[in-house]
Amino acid sequence: MFNLCDIGQVKELLLKYNFKFSKSLGQNFIINSEVCPKMAEMCSENCESGVLEIGPGIGVLTVELAKRFKKVVSIEIDKNLMPIINETVSDLNNVEIINEDILKLNLENIVKDKFYDCDEVSICANLPYYITSEIIMYILENNPGFSSMTVMVQKEAAERICAKPGTRQSGAISMAIRYYGIPKILFNVGRNSFIPSPNVDSCVIKIEMNDKNKKAIVNSNAFFKVVRAAYSKRRKNLLNSLSIGMEIDKSKIKEILNICNLDFNLRAEQLKFDDFINISNVIELK
Ligand code: SAM
Repeated sequence: MFNLCDIGQVKELLLKYNFKFSKSLGQNFIINSEVCPKMAEMCSENCESGVLEIGPGIGVLTVELAKRFKKVVSIEIDKNLMPIINETVSDLNNVEIINEDILKLNLENIVKDKFYDCDEVSICANLPYYITSEIIMYILENNPGFSSMTVMVQKEAAERICAKPGTRQSGAISMAIRYYGIPKILFNVGRNSFIPSPNVDSCVIKIEMNDKNKKAIVNSNAFFKVVRAAYSKRRKNLLNSLSIGMEIDKSKIKEILNICNLDFNLRAEQLKFDDFINISNVIELK
């Protein structure tokens, strides 16, 4: 069994397969032995769960997930990593590696075909930084029933994603994520925990899926349009940002904001999540 946090063993393994890190695929592998057990532990309490992992690299997190959960399916885009990870997980009979781009994967088929005998399915990953938001939104928008997502992302992205409504850090992404679930920051991971070391620190976050907000929204398209309009002109007040972004007359926006009991001079970052729901529902039902 390999110790994938032992830098000497990792270098030897990579040399054996003549592997070169690809910056464009966001390849920074974890070498801090505390990180992956903690991620796996916080991913789910149910050992009868299945886990879909994105970007296993050489398998350092995969191995920890396989120790705890019934089934692990890992999706890796880089074919050069296939012989390496197939070697590092060769002793584990509950792991399957698939060479595919996560953004092209039919998530419903994967859950049906691979996890049919698991109690629930979670996502766990150290995400490539270059497409963090795309991957998170792809999973949320096409979610066939994942119960949670525990992912490592760049620290600044974590703060944006988990920002509470009504704070300066909130934005279109934090609102969009709250439509699908509740995000929270779990723990920080320093840049020296990786090979090669990136220029930024990281954070592990968890999004617990939750239908409550979705159910309160009459039309999701209207909701996302309101969020985008309000935040795309975040320095402007609501009257102006919504009127420009939604292409609705100011007098009509005034009427809508009045019904929602909202001051015209508020800005997006001062609104609660429910305010966005109310605005979009009033626009939809009026
Ligand atoms: N899990 C490993 C670890 O923690 O050491 C590697 C994490 S590394 C930050 C991201 C991994 O995602 C790389 O192995 C990279 O090749 C893979 N990757 C990048 N884009 C991907 C995509 N679209 N679909 C699947 N895997 C991808």
